[in-house]
Amino acid sequence: MMEKDDMLNIDGAMGEGGGQILRSALALSLCLGQPFHISNIRATRRRPGLMPQHLVAVKAAAVIGEAEVQGATQGSRELEFIPHGTKPGDYHFDIGTAGSTTLVLQTILPALLTAAAPSRISLQGGTHNPLAPPFDFFERAFVPLINRMGPRLQAHLKRPGFYPVGGGVVEVSIEPAPTLQTLTLLQRGPILSQHAWAMVSRLPAHIAQRELKVLGDQLGLPSKTLEVRQVEAKGPGNAVTLMIESEHVTEVFVGIGERGVTAETVAEGVVTAVRRYLAAEVPVGEYLADQLLLPLALAGSGSFVTLRPSRHTTTNIKVVELFTGIRLACDELGHDRWRISC
Ligand code: ATP
Repeated sequence: MMEKDDMLNIDGAMGEGGGQILRSALALSLCLGQPFHISNIRATRRRPGLMPQHLVAVKAAAVIGEAEVQGATQGSRELEFIPHGTKPGDYHFDIGTAGSTTLVLQTILPALLTAAAPSRISLQGGTHNPLAPPFDFFERAFVPLINRMGPRLQAHLKRPGFYPVGGGVVEVSIEPAPTLQTLTLLQRGPILSQHAWAMVSRLPAHIAQRELKVLGDQLGLPSKTLEVRQVEAKGPGNAVTLMIESEHVTEVFVGIGERGVTAETVAEGVVTAVRRYLAAEVPVGEYLADQLLLPLALAGSGSFVTLRPSRHTTTNIKVVELFTGIRLACDELGHDRWRISC
């Protein structure tokens, strides 16, 4: 029987108050073998509690961690999770909706990166969702930094999946390392190349062309760096991506097409994010920052320079501290330039 004292209590309403608190708690629980109880899950959201996408994350973590779980039902605002080790292997998770496949990966990857054997994960669901890491960001920005820390992670997009139909397929293979090595990323270095692509599935090509025109005109990108990609998803969808490869890091900025939002508006969102990133002269953008915190804490050392921390970042720092006792420091270096260190 689990003693109540061994159980870490997490308030899901703290800080940003969204699904990331739950995913980070599951990930850290698997890595550290630490049981936890979370209340007020997604308390600040319009429809609080576990949505299908969060439930798949809980179930994936439970299978991989051979965990005892209570409260894993749709809409549940409380969950108890008691892991019993990490079981690497071949897994398939189907989100069933267009819920984000990369957010499920965010939950289970940390433990598999240092597991005793390799794993292969295939996931079905959304691959290019608003408010979640788009596959291209995951593959080109996040994965290379994890590989610098020791493991060999490879990601493959077999079919894109867009809201509302979903049906995208992602495959990830993981060659673990015994431990995660430190990551130090203090400078971006000169830009080596920029490449933009706009994907459309079952939608007119002019959507992609108009998005690329905005990126080209506003960011001064030559036409040979702009590419229209016609893709076959199960439903209609559109995403525009700009990859900036610099000497020390590759960052990726993505806008997701939505009904009722013009192609120009989608692309202008990307332009705004890119301008902020380039003006700040930092290596790590807003989203990479919150996603690197767990690997950094699990490595036990490291630091990076980034933009002013988002609420996702400050909240994730709290979750890391509750589980590990490690205090990630945030120091302001200048206008929109911060250093986060472990
Ligand atoms: P909720 O429905 O509770 O808002 P959620 O489970 O969908 O939450 P969040 O808690 O909002 O998710 O976490 C979103 C995650 O997606 C964060 O880690 C954030 O860095 C990442 N993310 C969001 N937008 C992007 C983007 N454009 N590029 C890369 N990562 C992104």
